[in-house]
Amino acid sequence: MTSGAPEKRRLTILGSTGSIGTNTLDVIDQLGGRDAFEIAAVTGNGNIGLLAAQATATGAELAVTASEGQYENLKSALAGTGIEVAAGRSGLIEAAERDADWVMAAIVGTAGLAPTLAAARRGADIALANKECLVSAGDLFVRAVAEGGGRLIPVDSEHSAIFQSLEDDQRHAVERIVLTASGGPFRTWSREQMAGVTAEVARAHPNWSMGLKISIGSASMFNKGLEMIEAKHLFDVAPSQIEVVVHPQSIIHSMVGYTDGSVIAQLGCPDMRTAIGYALTYPMRTKLNVDRLDFAKLARLDFEAPDEVRFPALRLARTAMERGGLQGAIMNAAEEVAFHAFVSGRIGFLDMADIAEVVMDRMTDVAPAASMDDVFAADGEARARAAEAVAEKEKAAGAAA
Ligand code: NAD
Ligand code: MG
Repeated sequence: MTSGAPEKRRLTILGSTGSIGTNTLDVIDQLGGRDAFEIAAVTGNGNIGLLAAQATATGAELAVTASEGQYENLKSALAGTGIEVAAGRSGLIEAAERDADWVMAAIVGTAGLAPTLAAARRGADIALANKECLVSAGDLFVRAVAEGGGRLIPVDSEHSAIFQSLEDDQRHAVERIVLTASGGPFRTWSREQMAGVTAEVARAHPNWSMGLKISIGSASMFNKGLEMIEAKHLFDVAPSQIEVVVHPQSIIHSMVGYTDGSVIAQLGCPDMRTAIGYALTYPMRTKLNVDRLDFAKLARLDFEAPDEVRFPALRLARTAMERGGLQGAIMNAAEEVAFHAFVSGRIGFLDMADIAEVVMDRMTDVAPAASMDDVFAADGEARARAAEAVAEKEKAAGAAA
């Protein structure tokens, strides 16, 4: 006879040391921690102290740092614990391939694509925060999850809201998807004002506390652009069915409009743990210790049309969707390079969109992807071209100074 104890769900958190990763571990803790779950693997990058502490606290089987150079540090931090250690790309793949039913994809950027794909291909349920997977690999990624047999459950707050507002047997009656956007810290700023801002100023989001890339992406609205493309692939809608509305309070997380004029929305305080908890216990809801909305205190919800002149990323995302093929991958890769150049002070805030646009326009003849290799090739070429565009910007700024 086997023991009567129910089998614990096995989870892996790719990107456990980040903003989504730490929120995920908090949700896991709230839902019973080690009594309810087994952690197959946790992964991070440079923050070895936190990664080792997480691995120890959760009793993870495997801890992986993306950074090869940190392997020995991680190994000594975990000496004597019995926790296995790995590093680099192969280590990330090893983490993704560990037998776990549910994998949180919370690595930032395209670095998350290969490990998330590996988890999808072996049939894990994918809780997807790492939107860059969908922006870059689009339908190929969706197909990989379907072929693996797992579910794709969105964690991005907007997409979780849409997922929660979609009535499964009424897909034919979906007219539009309305993504809400806070507008970020520069919602009311002119382009002249934005031109000179530093990363320190741009990262200060009014409502959400998040990792650096997505915070800068909220200020430039590149994040919303990526989310438009993410929505297209997740919900299989036409670009013309995707709207963005600026909603500064970030209370309505997004909405679905139906052919009968009804609009179904999901609301909540801006706290990623609600979307993470939903992805973990889907299709059931659970009890979470997060703030509750107080409508009388809120008093009002505001809305405005987005401004594609001050925030060209929205226009670029629409162009990428209309052009189709690998333009999402190209836009995403160029933006990632431009983001790194901006935070290291090499280019200005507005240069990021210019660089993405130049690279997209220079790569309109790239054929649609037949395989993931094509995605990685377009990503690589877009990065190289974006690096050139960064150098051109620096040269021009130097000449003007
Ligand atoms: P973050 O920067 O806080 O954390 C990123 C994680 O990825 C960390 O664990 C880091 O160690 C790891 N990492 C960084 N570079 C890596 C590399 N080269 N290889 C492997 N791992 C690497 O980011 P975040 O804000 O938690 O965002 C993670 C993902 O979730 C992003 O795709 C973001 O767009 C998405 N997302 C985040 C939020 C949020 O509230 N933070 C909301 C919605 C969606
Ligand atoms: Mg979002």
